[in-house]
Amino acid sequence: MKNNKIIIVGAGFVGTTLAWCLSNHYKGEIILIDKGQAGNGVTKQAFAWLNVSYGRSDAYSKLRQQALNEWHYLDKQTNGKLKINWSGAISWQETESATREFINVHRESGFNIKALTKAELQALEPQLTILPELAAFATEEGAVDPLHATQVLLQEALNNGVTYLPETEVTNINHNGKQILGVTTSQGIICADQVVLTAGVGAISLMEKLGEQLPLSASPSVIVQYQHQAVTPFVHHIISTPDMEVRPISGTTLLAAEDYLSDRPEHSATYIAKNALPVIKRAFIGSDSLCLENASVGLRPMPEDEMPIVGKVADYRGLYMISMHVAITLAPLICRLAQEEIINDIEQTALNPYRLTRFASGSCH
Ligand SMILES: Cc1cc2nc3c(=O)[nH]c(=O)nc-3n(C[C@H](O)[C@H](O)[C@H](O)COP(=O)(O)OP(=O)(O)OC[C@H]3O[C@@H](n4cnc5c(N)ncnc54)[C@H](O)[C@@H]3O)c2cc1C
Repeated sequence: MKNNKIIIVGAGFVGTTLAWCLSNHYKGEIILIDKGQAGNGVTKQAFAWLNVSYGRSDAYSKLRQQALNEWHYLDKQTNGKLKINWSGAISWQETESATREFINVHRESGFNIKALTKAELQALEPQLTILPELAAFATEEGAVDPLHATQVLLQEALNNGVTYLPETEVTNINHNGKQILGVTTSQGIICADQVVLTAGVGAISLMEKLGEQLPLSASPSVIVQYQHQAVTPFVHHIISTPDMEVRPISGTTLLAAEDYLSDRPEHSATYIAKNALPVIKRAFIGSDSLCLENASVGLRPMPEDEMPIVGKVADYRGLYMISMHVAITLAPLICRLAQEEIINDIEQTALNPYRLTRFASGSCH
């Protein structure tokens, strides 16, 4: 290495987690840059359910299970400061047989999941009005306030000596041929041996300037906050059903994730949130005071095949990227593995299925 400097472009949950991971091991300088403030990209709009996957390849399912274990480990490492809610997730599918299949598939893959009878579900969620015969209870899953988690890891990274440059837009990645030299920012040029792109959807335009087309797009999804004045909270766990995905974030606030419909005005986030409100109200006794607080569309970085992209970029020396759409769940694991590759150049075989090279027809391989 020439100047022992690593620049991380983007202080979302991914970039901040990586800065924290690197700062625990790297002896050189780490500079974390964001065009706004840490966590204020799509991170702050995440539903932030820390969960395993369903209906994906075995390798990816295992990765998600490992990612969940990593979160339990991270929780210990940070002494509970991340305030993770480990109350678990209750879900059911369209039919009882589909729920049974869901439970079986998880159990076969070694994931701890309980089958709940109607009575058991009622005991866990007494205010639920419509109960299926069978539900799944993933007791090891949890949720986190993604902005709080980002800020905690940022503070730890700063304590470890990371330089944080907010309100600083990276306008170009500088290179001499295939050798990365650093970045040009709205505040000037910064030289470095390595540049790591964790810019979420912002990575698309930065790579375009390098003449590279990333197999990544901005995928919209709707996040909604509802308020209520119920004295007794009426939702106790993360609940995911064919009709809704909700979780409590405080005694009086409920978070919901909804599908994005289109960019037509009648499909705005507010419209979607208002439509979802009676569905949620019907599902819980005591939810009469529930009302819309705010709703917005978040743009998730979505790789073409929906799998993470991690590793060196094209044949540039010193350019690495991390991008994924389930990044709150995956970042602690992926960043720990990536840290070994970035600092020590030790290839992590667990990351091999997620290289940019898998997109054979794209220009970025
Ligand atoms: C409704 C919804 C629900 C979700 N639910 C979940 C969930 O349950 N579980 C889960 O794991 N994930 C979930 N996600 C996805 C999750 O939000 C994202 O995967 C994650 O936040 C991506 O983090 P990131 O750091 O890559 O991106 P971002 O948070 O967008 O961070 C990128 C950062 O880069 C900065 N940046 C961009 N361009 C530049 C530039 N040129 N110069 C400097 N800085 C730049 C931005 O300002 C931003 O801060 C959800 C998302 C939405 C919208």
